[in-house]
Amino acid sequence: MPKLTILEFPDPRLRTIAVPVEHFDNGLARLIDDMFETMYEAPGIGLAATQVDVHRQLLVLDVSEDKNQPMVFINPRILQRDGEQVYQEGCLSVPGIYADVTRANQIRVQALNRRGESFELEADGLLAICIQHEMDHLAGKVFVDYLSPLKRDMVRKKLEKNRRGRVESESREHSL
Ligand code: ZN
Repeated sequence: MPKLTILEFPDPRLRTIAVPVEHFDNGLARLIDDMFETMYEAPGIGLAATQVDVHRQLLVLDVSEDKNQPMVFINPRILQRDGEQVYQEGCLSVPGIYADVTRANQIRVQALNRRGESFELEADGLLAICIQHEMDHLAGKVFVDYLSPLKRDMVRKKLEKNRRGRVESESREHSL
């Protein structure tokens, strides 16, 4: 069992808009560690605090093959976005569902690290997708919001069915 409970769509708490992190204390350090443990165990490649019912602007991710490049983004802001890319996204809060989403191909992001120090990063490919996906969570958005209402309704029904039968053996490898 992962350390923290991951909220699942359509849980209304996933719609909460996160507030900025202000205190870089032991509590925050513990939360970050617990989020990484939960993300790796799930397994997923990204996790936003919103997904574990903590409504602060914090996300963790690791898009590396070997799962050895943990990254933390606190109070992130996208400074610049360029181009477009389409990727079949999944989400730990929408288990077993994958759908194409169009996002910026390249982004420039500014955030704070776990010690409260500011940094800037240019990202493209999967890293850029992951950051944008997790930042959506902090704004109360889930990737299925990009689907048509009809498709979103199908997702909701499929999830309800899965939950009843718990036939949830599909890989979560690429879930964000
Ligand atoms: Zn997600």
